[in-house]
Amino acid sequence: MDHDTVNHDSAAEHPRPPRREFKARGSFVTRCEGCNLPTLNCLCPYQVKAESVAQVWLLTHSIEHYKPTNTGRLIGDVLSETRIFTWYRTAPDAQLAALLKDPRYAPFVVFPDDQPDYADRLVGIEAVHAAKAQTRIPVFIILDGTWRQARRMFRKSAYLDALPVLPLRTERETRYRLRKPASKSHLCTAEVAIELLRQGGDTVAADVLDDYFEVFNDSYAASRLHHKIDSPTAAMRRLLAKQEAAPIEE
Ligand SMILES: [Zn+2]
Repeated sequence: MDHDTVNHDSAAEHPRPPRREFKARGSFVTRCEGCNLPTLNCLCPYQVKAESVAQVWLLTHSIEHYKPTNTGRLIGDVLSETRIFTWYRTAPDAQLAALLKDPRYAPFVVFPDDQPDYADRLVGIEAVHAAKAQTRIPVFIILDGTWRQARRMFRKSAYLDALPVLPLRTERETRYRLRKPASKSHLCTAEVAIELLRQGGDTVAADVLDDYFEVFNDSYAASRLHHKIDSPTAAMRRLLAKQEAAPIEE
């Protein structure tokens, strides 16, 4: 069991301010307006939608929001029902607070179980299956930011205080290549969603998102080396085949 798996692009705790890093890179690179990746290896041809019973709602830290290496946005590309809320310490999101009271949803805050003061709120993945059995929509609320930001969001958002806390338990090691992880067990945001969807029974959606994440990862990493991926990878071929079966309407 690893307490750290919840977090998330954690290597972002970089000595340089992210905004400056983004600008420096951006000034050398032409980005696609559709996917925000360098045009050399654009992600757009691989966008495939998938259906899931569970939903992912991201509470994205305001700084994280603008980083092109953020993987949270990939979830929304694949799962149409995804909601993204930007977190500001001083202004709780009224829409999110209202949605959390909607009885159609069974929301879970995804967070590690490493502190004693919320032990009474901890649940396992079986609570997600139980919600489905009651025809409620399980919602994974993922705190999208660095480790420190996620902890702050968890502690400073009163509207999360009553929700069950779901720690992610997985053996998966991160495959995210765009930021250096402090540990292999630190999954990025998309990977957290993939594992939760899979464990919650949305395996098809998890597989599509996993392929899409992999293509994002490979494409972005290759572009940084100014390398164009000429022959599609296995994940690319699977997504292209899915798209031919069900093309996305423009
Ligand atoms: Zn694109």
